[in-house]
Amino acid sequence: LAARGGRATARVESLVPSSVAGIIALASGEVPPLASSLADFKAMPRDEGGVFEAVARAGGRCFVAGPSLWTELYGRWIAAAEVDPSFGRADERLIGATLRALESDAHRLIVLHLGRVDAVAHQYGTRSPEYRAAARWCDAAVGRIARAMGPDAALVVTSDHGNVDRGGHAGPEPSVLRTPLVMFGPGLPTGSRPAMPQRAVRSLLLSALGCHGDATAGVPAGARREGNGSWFPLPLASALLSGLSFWSGLRGAQTGRRHATVLNLTVWLLLALMVLGWFPAALAAGFAALAWAAFSVPGRISARLVAAGGLGTALGALRLVDGFVVLDRATPDGMIPTLIGVAVLACGLLPFSPPGGAGVGRALRAPPHRAVILGQWLGVVMGAAAAAALGRVRLMLAYLAAVVLGRALGRLLGSPPAGTPAGSAGAARCVAVGMLTAAAVVLLGRAAGETTSLSTVDVRAAFALVDGRFGLILAIVAVAAAQALPSIGLVLGLRSGVARLASDPATEFAAGLAAALVGQAAVGVLLLNAARDQTVAALALGLTARVGAETLYLFLGLAALILASGPAATPREWIRNRIEDDLR
Ligand SMILES: [Zn+2]
Repeated sequence: LAARGGRATARVESLVPSSVAGIIALASGEVPPLASSLADFKAMPRDEGGVFEAVARAGGRCFVAGPSLWTELYGRWIAAAEVDPSFGRADERLIGATLRALESDAHRLIVLHLGRVDAVAHQYGTRSPEYRAAARWCDAAVGRIARAMGPDAALVVTSDHGNVDRGGHAGPEPSVLRTPLVMFGPGLPTGSRPAMPQRAVRSLLLSALGCHGDATAGVPAGARREGNGSWFPLPLASALLSGLSFWSGLRGAQTGRRHATVLNLTVWLLLALMVLGWFPAALAAGFAALAWAAFSVPGRISARLVAAGGLGTALGALRLVDGFVVLDRATPDGMIPTLIGVAVLACGLLPFSPPGGAGVGRALRAPPHRAVILGQWLGVVMGAAAAAALGRVRLMLAYLAAVVLGRALGRLLGSPPAGTPAGSAGAARCVAVGMLTAAAVVLLGRAAGETTSLSTVDVRAAFALVDGRFGLILAIVAVAAAQALPSIGLVLGLRSGVARLASDPATEFAAGLAAALVGQAAVGVLLLNAARDQTVAALALGLTARVGAETLYLFLGLAALILASGPAATPREWIRNRIEDDLR
């Protein structure tokens, strides 16, 4: 078909390439706003119908066979559909329905969206024999459709996005952004054509359909990152909120409680404003709340924290450079990250005794902490087992390295006497360890093969779970757990070090950690808004999302650790205290 018709490359422009973004680009000629990629499993109806509306206006009927996204988005203008709610498992049924639709000759536009190639890529990666077989099968399917077409029918073959070797497609790799475009039949160009943006395919479709009258042009490329600033307050607010609630949980201070409450409410307010699409209002509300929180507590902003934030900024920039350098490498998890993992493990072991040994035996003999210690080691074993069950040896190594490294960092915290005045050497060391913790989680995630490109989120094992009854939820939990493992390992390792701290140094530790995270998020958000280059913007988005997730995992983990290590001796007391706190 490519040899006898026309061929080109269609370039995906979304910062988070997905099926929903591809469908909207192809049908409506628009690069949808970022938030729409969150709707990759369930989308809201659109108020314009793109090519479907043009066909319906010209008195034609449209038929779609594919995932339910098409009918969710464009159902108003689609006369008949065969929907596949699974992930590419029902492609043969879709092809059968398409062949019948062709035979009936009742439709002016027929869309067939095959999901198998993407599903197989997610589960096995694109270097697998399974992927080759799926690609061959898809090619043969296109042949079956082409042979069933009448002489006056035109065929356009393209894709919503590509996949990286490990199967993902949420980042700016060339293999994700460059999709094939083959055109065959009356009204379509022939020969080799220059590359075009994916959203330009819509006008090709319109000309083949003979629907030139439709004037609604696609959104200009310059507007494609509108509303990105909405990502800014969330990681920032969650970092500060977590840091402050951690602090208030430790010392029970009334100021901390008030701040935590206001910032918590602010996050919900921001979410509401963002859902309404009022991005500038969300941004203003976020900044106002954060400025109040930062400046209304005397003495909270110190030179040490500014330094931690600055070093966090440098760390964020390093992560972006790293993501750029290894972009679309055949194996982003090659030798270097392995060496980093081994080096981290070695650094953790060298100056300190390994976790376990006499310390655990002693701790187990101390009754109030027995359950906590047992829980901690159960966590270590279960985390490693989870990584092994996901078939991710490198992730398992990174997780165990995280436990060792966390323990080393916990020892660095030392045990300064309670009430160490702010500004002392002990406090500075706690800020530094907080900052190092933020750096360690980056290093460990990288050792597990994850970069600032969201394509490197590894869903291969999780995708095998999708088929079951609660498949999607299970798969999401599996992906989130794999993402959280390095943070969980660090927190488990840090447990004894943090639990020993008095409230002031613990506050310094949490503040140093939060400042380093906020510094990284700031780089991501600034570049996301300023970068004109799609690759840089997509990596900056990935950095921001990753820092947000790391903040969540680290601070939730630390909060759980503090609660578990608290003075309450029995679960009943612990629950009663929590309820009393919440009521107050
Ligand atoms: Zn996919």
